[in-house]
Amino acid sequence: MPTRRTYLDYNASAPLMAQAREAVCAAMELSGNASSVHAEGRRLRGVIETAREQVGRLVNAEPARVVFTSGATEGNVTVLSQGYDVGLRPDSEHDSVLAPMAASGAKIVPLAISSEGVIDLGDLERALDAANGRRCVVAVQLANNETGVIQPLADVVAIARPRGARVHCDAVQAAGRVLVDFEALGVDTMVISAHKLGGPKGVGALIVRDGAAVLPLLMGGGQERRRRAGTENVVAIAGFGAAASVAAAELPGALCIAELRDRLEADLRSITPNAKVIGEGAPRLPNTTAVAVPDKAAEIVLIKLDLAGIAVSSGAACSSGKVGASHVLAAMGVPTALARGMIRVSLGRETTAADVDHLVSVWTEIHNSGARSDPMPRMPTKHEGRVALAAAGMGD
Ligand code: PLP
Repeated sequence: MPTRRTYLDYNASAPLMAQAREAVCAAMELSGNASSVHAEGRRLRGVIETAREQVGRLVNAEPARVVFTSGATEGNVTVLSQGYDVGLRPDSEHDSVLAPMAASGAKIVPLAISSEGVIDLGDLERALDAANGRRCVVAVQLANNETGVIQPLADVVAIARPRGARVHCDAVQAAGRVLVDFEALGVDTMVISAHKLGGPKGVGALIVRDGAAVLPLLMGGGQERRRRAGTENVVAIAGFGAAASVAAAELPGALCIAELRDRLEADLRSITPNAKVIGEGAPRLPNTTAVAVPDKAAEIVLIKLDLAGIAVSSGAACSSGKVGASHVLAAMGVPTALARGMIRVSLGRETTAADVDHLVSVWTEIHNSGARSDPMPRMPTKHEGRVALAAAGMGD
């Protein structure tokens, strides 16, 4: 009998919604090019514009602000490659923010975060004052992908705006999970991604405030009002629109998932009393928990859970092709021995109490089978890390 699968990794990618699949399939039947003036072209244009409205409605942005992209990575790279003199961001940002900012030639200013993962607003203020007069971009995510910790974006904007800095917000993990209001937040640019909220992979949106001129990363044709060249991926955009529409309608239910998450945390703690919930004291996404058991190697727990039919993530090593503990937890000052025992469980719209029970029962088996039976593997040296990455074709 096949093992029952319990998918608790929504922050990596949410299962495709039935409504999104339907929209994708319907769009696949359409021929033509949305830039053409004939009936076929106009039909495709209609599909794209409907999706633009649906996506805009999810995050309270005028449809005209929405630029469809190949995903949030493209949006982050677009915004952070605009030739800023200074780039300010916490070290806990996603790699798709850290890497383009580092490559952009801007002077990088790391912003302090608390041990709970929340940005230190005083540090932001001081850093912006020190950057006085130079073109600055502040990149702060709305919610962290590993811990779910939510950042006070409106406060960030209130500090950055009067000092003439642009604010870019990666709202990938927040959209569809908590209320995201582009207008109220007041950020200049924001990115979201379809596959985190039940849409297809490989499509996202960059949302650009009126007046925040953003040069296109992809140049050529005049698509997306000259903000992103290339024939539109209508099939994926249609699926994104459908998923965004369902996510907006289901938002009140999405918030209730916190009850299941809280019960899960309580149960895991009763089995492993030394477990720590990372970022517990901060505002967090309702669907995410990052639970760390000291000296219990997350990679091994992850594999055991997978063999028992449960899909979760770890912030550490192998799972993401990286070597070493999570950079997010390191930025929060979480000790390495604890960070390397971190398992991220992320719930979603299809998660049931039975799924949580399944995890709790397998967690009990794993942790009762002897804490010392899964010794923490030795950290690879930098050289070993490079060799491992090169062997996996991921070296630089
Ligand atoms: N930003 C965050 C916080 C993410 O979690 C992810 C996906 O893992 C991305 C950006 C990249 O999104 P995409 O897969 O659409 O490029």
